[in-house]
Amino acid sequence: MARYTDPVCRLCRREGSKLYLKGDRCYTPKCAVDRRAYAPGQHGQGRKKVSEYGLQLREKQKARRMYGILEVQFRRYFDRAERQPGVTGENLLRLLERRLDNVIYRLGLGASRNEARQLVRHGHFIVNGRKVNIPSFLVRVGDVITVRDKSQESPRVKELLDRATDHTPPAWLEYEADQAKAQVVALPERDQIDAPIQEHLIVEMYSR
Ligand code: SF4
Repeated sequence: MARYTDPVCRLCRREGSKLYLKGDRCYTPKCAVDRRAYAPGQHGQGRKKVSEYGLQLREKQKARRMYGILEVQFRRYFDRAERQPGVTGENLLRLLERRLDNVIYRLGLGASRNEARQLVRHGHFIVNGRKVNIPSFLVRVGDVITVRDKSQESPRVKELLDRATDHTPPAWLEYEADQAKAQVVALPERDQIDAPIQEHLIVEMYSR
């Protein structure tokens, strides 16, 4: 399973906004976007003239990088969103939100989506009674997600469980901290998806 492994702060700087890819560091003055608010590379501070296509491309890249998805898989999500009834852009974001690694991040059980993805890969979570170690697993309404008993002994998982008690998940997820158990109570609506993405630009780009 391929994934991006180069420095991630470059991605935020390229998009010109915080994508929160590094967890706690993103909330400190050490954040690279705060310290160097220009694109990376030799021409990062050069003249900027962005075409319409450029704007659409940047929006697509921002969404892809935020959710940690490579191009081919992102395109598959788009094709699937297009086939669903409703607004394609919203369908796309809804699909991305339903990924298990994102759900774990939204529950506060991972400091970043990257960490959440790693925890899922390491098999720390159970969905409807079965271990699921696939980050792209799409949750459905009614799914119950728990932390594996043995995993709750891990110092990092313990720390994250403690943090999650102070975290407010989005309204489409319910979390019972005392049982380390979450339930998907609805599919996310657009206004419940905290993602600074103009999804219509992504639709326009793929519809060219
Ligand atoms: Fe992005 Fe976080 Fe790095 Fe800041 S610290 S540039 S938000 S990944």
